[in-house]
Amino acid sequence: MIHIVGHGIAGAMLAWELDRRGISFRVYDPGSTPTGSKVGAGIINPVTGQRWVKSWRVDTLFRGAESTYREIERVTGSRLYTSLRVRRYFQSPAEERTAREKVAAGQLRPYITEAGVDSCWISPAARVDTGALVDVLGQRWQARGWWRAEEAPSSWPSDDVVIRCIGAAECALPELGTKRLSLAKGEILTVRAEHVDTSTIVNAGNWVLPIDTARARVGATYARDQLSLECTPAAREHLLSFARKYLGDSTEVVSQEVGLRASTSDRLPVVGWLCERRRLGIVNGLGSKGALFAPCLAQQWAEHLTSGRAFDPELDVRRFLP
Ligand SMILES: Cc1cc2nc3c(=O)[nH]c(=O)nc-3n(C[C@H](O)[C@H](O)[C@H](O)COP(=O)(O)OP(=O)(O)OC[C@H]3O[C@@H](n4cnc5c(N)ncnc54)[C@H](O)[C@@H]3O)c2cc1C
Repeated sequence: MIHIVGHGIAGAMLAWELDRRGISFRVYDPGSTPTGSKVGAGIINPVTGQRWVKSWRVDTLFRGAESTYREIERVTGSRLYTSLRVRRYFQSPAEERTAREKVAAGQLRPYITEAGVDSCWISPAARVDTGALVDVLGQRWQARGWWRAEEAPSSWPSDDVVIRCIGAAECALPELGTKRLSLAKGEILTVRAEHVDTSTIVNAGNWVLPIDTARARVGATYARDQLSLECTPAAREHLLSFARKYLGDSTEVVSQEVGLRASTSDRLPVVGWLCERRRLGIVNGLGSKGALFAPCLAQQWAEHLTSGRAFDPELDVRRFLP
C-alpha cells in the first residue's frame, strides 16, 4: 500500500499520477492549518527574480504542467487553469539594464520578445487555482474511501511505502529539518475594485492577480525573519497601497491570508527516498513555484514506483542527505 501524507498541491498531484496509473493509495491530511496550497496564488510566471531569469527547465515543465491541469479539468469538470500574461515593470535602472540586455540577446524567448518603455510583457503565464484543485481531488479520494482526515500514524507495516508531502511541517522533522529547508512567511490580500483587467497579472515588486472583473488577489509579502501564522496590519497596508496604485483608490480589502513557503538552499524542490530501507519518501521544497513544479515531481514518483526509473539527480533529495 502507498500512503500519501499531506494533500497540498504536492500530495494531490502525486495522488493524481498514481490514480492515472491504476495504483490505489491512502491520503492523510487533518486540514487544520492554513497551507501554502490553500493560501498561495498559483501563478506560473516563467521569468522571475531581479536578474530576470527563466525558471529552471521552464519550457518543458510549463508544457507538462498545463497539459496535466487541463486533463484534471476535463476529468473533474472543474475550472482550475487560466492562461494569462504578465506585465512586468522595471523596478530600478539596474534591473531595467539587465532585462533589456537579456531581451536583446534573445535569452528570454519565447516569453519576452521585446522591451517596452517601462515594462515587458511576459506571455504565456498562467494561474492555477491550487486551493480548488486540492479540494476537488480530495473529494475524489473521499468518495472512494481513500481519504483520512487525520495526521498520519507514527508507524506503518514494513512493506508499505510512505511519501511525505507536508510542506512547512517537514521542518520540524529530523531528516531534512531546518538545516536543509527554510521557511518564508507570505501574506496575501483579496480585494474588490471597480475594474480589474482579467487578462493580465501586474508585476511591479508585488503583483495583482485578476480573479474576475471586480476582484483580484494582491501579494505577496516575503519574510524569512517572522514565521508566525498571524496576519499583520503592516502587510495589509503595504499590499493595499500597492493595489490602489494599479486598481484605483476605491479598492477595498475583502480578506487577508497568510501561509508559509518551504524552500531548499539551491531553490530546487526535493523528490525521492528519504530512507529507502524504511520505504519513506518525500516531495517538498516547492518554494514559490508549487504550481509549476508539482506535476513533474509527482510524475517522477509515479514512474519510479511503476518502472524503477531513477529520480532526476538535480531534484533527488539524496543531494541533501549524508
Ligand atoms: C502567500 C503565498 C503566495 C504564494 N504564491 C504562489 C504562486 O503564485 N505560485 C506558486 O506556484 N506558488 C505560490 N506559493 C507557494 C505554494 O503555495 C507552495 O509551493 C505549495 O503550496 C507547496 O505545496 P505543498 O503541497 O508542498 O505544501 P502545502 O500546500 O503546505 O501542503 C502540505 C499539506 O500537508 C498537510 N500536513 C502537514 N502535516 C501533516 C501531518 N503530520 N499529517 C498529515 N498531513 C499533514 C497540511 O495540512 C497540508 O495540507 C505561495 C505561497 C504563499 C504562502
